[in-house]
Amino acid sequence: MRSLEEVKAEILESVSPLAPVVVPAGEALGLVLAETVRAAEAVPPFANTAMDGYALRFADTAGATEDAPVTLNVVGDLPAGYAPSVAVGEGEAVRIMTGAPIPDGADSIIPVERTSRDCATRVQVHAEVKLNDHIRPVGGDVLPGDSVFSPGDVLGPASIGVLSSLAVSSVRIYPRPRVAVISTGDELIEGGGALAPGQIRDSNRPMLLAMVTDAGCEAIDLGIARDDESALEEALLDAADKYDAIVTSGGVSVGDYDVVKAVLARIGVLVWSQVAIKPAKPLAFGVIGSTPIFGLPGNPVSSNISFELFARPALRVMAGHTVLERPVVDAVATADFARRSDGKIHFDRVTVSLGPSGFTAERSGGQGSNVLSAMAHANGLAILPDGDGVEAGGSLRVMLLTDHFSYPEGSEFSGAPRT
Ligand code: AMP
Ligand code: MG
Repeated sequence: MRSLEEVKAEILESVSPLAPVVVPAGEALGLVLAETVRAAEAVPPFANTAMDGYALRFADTAGATEDAPVTLNVVGDLPAGYAPSVAVGEGEAVRIMTGAPIPDGADSIIPVERTSRDCATRVQVHAEVKLNDHIRPVGGDVLPGDSVFSPGDVLGPASIGVLSSLAVSSVRIYPRPRVAVISTGDELIEGGGALAPGQIRDSNRPMLLAMVTDAGCEAIDLGIARDDESALEEALLDAADKYDAIVTSGGVSVGDYDVVKAVLARIGVLVWSQVAIKPAKPLAFGVIGSTPIFGLPGNPVSSNISFELFARPALRVMAGHTVLERPVVDAVATADFARRSDGKIHFDRVTVSLGPSGFTAERSGGQGSNVLSAMAHANGLAILPDGDGVEAGGSLRVMLLTDHFSYPEGSEFSGAPRT
C-alpha cells in the first residue's frame, strides 16, 4: 500500500493548468483569471451623493441645530442619472438623490432626515455638516490604471459586477476542464427497467457526472463500458483524444474482470493501486498523452471518496486553482468513532453540526463502502488516522464537503434553518 500523501502528490505533479482562453465576462463565474485586469476608467465615474438630501455649502450650516435650523433657498431638484443644471451659491441648496452628481458650488450633503420644509422654495437644515460629508469622490472605489484583479483570482459574483462597472466585456481565464465519465461493469444497467438476476443500476456515473459539475468542470457522459478490454481500450483512447480528463469507475481492484487496470497496464501508462485509506483503497491512475485518467473503485462510496481525494484536487489544478483542498476543521465527536488499526487512514461519513461552541460530528449512517445513502446524508468526512479511533467527546479532524451544516435543536446561531 502507498500512502495517501504520496499518491496524491504524484497525481498533482502529473497535471497542469489548461491553456487559457478568452470568454465573455458574464460567463466567467467561478473561473480562475489568467491575466491582470486593469481599470481603464474611474469608479465611480464622477463625484456623487451617498444620501438622499440636499447639496449645499458646508459653511452655510455653521451653528445649525435641531431647534435652531438655518434656512436655505432650494434652487433645483436633481435625481440620479441627470447632469446638474444649476450651481449652488451661498445660502442655496439643491434637492439631490443618491447617486446624482454633485452640482458645482456644493461641497457637502445634508441627509434629508436632518432637514424640514415649510414651502417649495426653502429648506430648514437642522444640523451642521462638514466639508465633503456624504460625497463619494470620483475614483473612490477604483482609479484608472488600478490593477483590479490578478492572475489566479477566482471570479465570484461581485467580481463579475466589478468587471461590468469597468466595461470589461471579456476576460482571459483557465477553461473548465472537460471531463468524460465512464462506468464499467457487465452487471450495470441504465434507467428504470426490471433488473435481471445479478444486475444492478448504475449509480456511480450519475454521481460522478454530478461531482465533476460540482467541481466546476464540464461533465461528458460516455455511458457504460462492458468488462471487455479491447472495447474499453478503444473508448479510453478515443476519450483521451477528445477530452481533458477521464474518470472511470469499477474494474480497478484484484478481481478477474478488472478491466480498467488491465487496459491501463497494457497501453503502458502509469498505474497505481492500493492506497492506504478506507474506503477507496484501489485506484488506477495514468496519463494517456496529456489526459489524466482516474480509475476509481466501483463501490459507490469508494468511488465518491476517491474522486474527492484524488480527482477533484487534480481537476482544480487543471482549472487554474491554487487552493485545491476542502477546508478541514476540528469537531467534537458526539459518539465513539471506534476503529481498528490496519495501517490505513479512515474517512468516515459524518454529519457536521455548527453550534455556538464550534463543530460537532456524528456518523451519518452505515460505513460500508456500498452504503451510498450515508454518503448522501454526510456533509463531511472525519479523517481518522491509523489507531483505535476517537472516543465520544474527543476531537476529530473533519473535511467539510459543503457549506451547509445542521444546527443543534433550538439553536439561535445565525444561519440556523428556518422553522
Ligand atoms: P468492481 O471494482 O468493478 O469489482 O466493483 C466493485 C463493486 O462496485 C461491485 O459490487 C460492483 O457491482 C459495484 N459497482 C461497480 N460499478 C458500479 C456502478 N457504476 N454503480 C453502482 N455500483 C457499481
Ligand atoms: Mg466491475
